[in-house]
Amino acid sequence: MILTIKSKAKTEFIDITSDVQQLINNAGITDGLCLLFVPHTTAAITINESADPSVKADILSVLNKIVPWDANYRHLEGNSSAHVKSTIVGVSELIAVENRRLLLGTWQGIFFCEFDGPRTRKVHVRFLRDVPFGCA
Ligand code: ZN
Repeated sequence: MILTIKSKAKTEFIDITSDVQQLINNAGITDGLCLLFVPHTTAAITINESADPSVKADILSVLNKIVPWDANYRHLEGNSSAHVKSTIVGVSELIAVENRRLLLGTWQGIFFCEFDGPRTRKVHVRFLRDVPFGCA
């Protein structure tokens, strides 16, 4: 399965939690694992607080400070900042599914991280079904 995402800004966190949960609902997954993989070198995926939007703004602000767009990069395409951010944040997440729900904490959401937008992006989604939790 593929989630298609259209980013609207150069750098942006897009909450995809409800989209992923919808795929779980459609696939009829009760217990298992959900793998999310971003097949891009200038984007990433992460899990963090989704209740207060200032958290994602703070994370983006820090990333933009520690990896500025303009620096003495060698990569001629001119988007090394986005490549570095992708590597720092990472391109995959593995999340448990229990009782048909993503096993996220109360305040957690899944964010697609755009670092060189706006673009049309993909997130590959795979399920490992019937993985019971809590048994030895
Ligand atoms: Zn590049």
